[in-house]
Amino acid sequence: MEAFRKQVREAFPLLQRQVHGKPLAYFDNAATTQKPQAVLDAVDNYYRQTNSNVHRGVHALSQEATEAYEQARKTVQNFLHAAHSHEIIFTRGTTEAVNLVAQGFGKSVFQEGDEIICSVMEHHSNIVPWQLAGADKKLRIRVIPVNERGEADMESYASLFNEKTKLVAITQASNVLGSITPLKEIIRIAHSHSVPVLADGAQGVKCCLTDVQELDCDFYCFSGHKIYAPMGIGVLYGKEKWLEKLPPYQGGGDMIQHVGFDKTTFNSLPFKFEAGTPNVAGAIGLQAALQWVENIGQEKLIRAEEELTAYATKQLQQLPGLRIWGTSARKAAVISFTLGHHHPTDVGTLIDFMGIAVRTGHHCCQPLMDVLGIPGTVRASFAAYNTQEETDRMLSALQTAQQMLG
Ligand code: PMP
Repeated sequence: MEAFRKQVREAFPLLQRQVHGKPLAYFDNAATTQKPQAVLDAVDNYYRQTNSNVHRGVHALSQEATEAYEQARKTVQNFLHAAHSHEIIFTRGTTEAVNLVAQGFGKSVFQEGDEIICSVMEHHSNIVPWQLAGADKKLRIRVIPVNERGEADMESYASLFNEKTKLVAITQASNVLGSITPLKEIIRIAHSHSVPVLADGAQGVKCCLTDVQELDCDFYCFSGHKIYAPMGIGVLYGKEKWLEKLPPYQGGGDMIQHVGFDKTTFNSLPFKFEAGTPNVAGAIGLQAALQWVENIGQEKLIRAEEELTAYATKQLQQLPGLRIWGTSARKAAVISFTLGHHHPTDVGTLIDFMGIAVRTGHHCCQPLMDVLGIPGTVRASFAAYNTQEETDRMLSALQTAQQMLG
């Protein structure tokens, strides 16, 4: 698989660059992935050849742009195995997708004293939108704990439901612990209580093969930039019946059927949720990224990441005082660790000077850090273009950092 990873790597121009005079080993893929040439070309080509506003033009360019944008929607539909393309809403990313659903539930579903269920390992973007949307209804968030391996405690989960439970909002994969949650079982249990489920696929979209119909997921959110696509484009998948039920998120052009000062009626799906000029180039870049993934084969890309994660885990375990946080049986390509009592920022800063890019801190998961009793971790996260050679370099950089820190 090392040869395969090296071959994949060649498609990514940025990975050729150096930082601090050293070859770059980019291990911050859970924050954002680099972009293959195919994605750069698709965006460049769109602006050189097609750029025009969508949906409202009769001229050729506008029609071409509209067709390309709607084709991108179909590509996302096929990638997620959604039943209809109008169940795919383009957003800025996962954060906006969660906010869209949260605001809709705040206006049309939540009643005073209602509850939702989240896990303790949620990213802030799957916590705060619910707090904002539910504040005036005194919405209570009930929390699924994790076991010592960082896996969602399914017994506790099953015990959290009652007649006030209106939603389960849970991650598909933790950006800190790497744990891949048993989404299908989580959804089955929620549905047995007639409660819908929103899955945060920000991390899961790259490391899991996702079929929203097979999962029977009510909502699924992801960000393009975490699966080789540009920033500023993401997706909300919602079952038709839910998207029909929820009110519009923002008002503006394109989301209306007829506007009057007394009364306005709204456009059909998916346009009801896409107010204003959309990120057409982003959608086209996302399409190119998903096609790039599918042309190589997502399963193969996942295997390449998994194998490297296992290799890096073994490497890191050689370091005295290193502790890995999150040892779930099913794990995304993420390794969070602490190195003795050294502050994660010191470790991250030192190895950056050796060309190793990792993320440090709370990773937007402060509630999880509180439960773990640590201020943060160092996080190395992998993509299919990372190599064993690079992880070997990370190991020796960490050894040097450890010596320097004493
Ligand atoms: N959820 C998870 C699990 C994430 O890792 C992230 C990004 N770090 C988000 C949500 C938010 O994604 P975005 O910032 O792209 O909206």
